[in-house]
Amino acid sequence: MSRIISLSNFKLIKARGHGYVTITDKYTGNCVHHVVCNYVAEHNFTQKVLENAQKNGAYFFTEDLNQAMNHFPNMRKCQKCFKS
Ligand SMILES: [Zn+2]
Repeated sequence: MSRIISLSNFKLIKARGHGYVTITDKYTGNCVHHVVCNYVAEHNFTQKVLENAQKNGAYFFTEDLNQAMNHFPNMRKCQKCFKS
């Protein structure tokens, strides 16, 4: 599980196209996405991590879905990218 703190790192993870991104949020809750999900978006990352300095939440990357689900409490899977 690694914290994503730079836009270049975020772009690299999106470009590679595999693994999971966990987005934490004090108000709306914690959610895990496939990296390719539209909700894992550059403008959202920029706002939360760079402009708001991770005050309300942060972005994390892992290749391991179980780790993504278990690392933080009350983790849910994105309704959009995990629907089958
Ligand atoms: Zn998603």
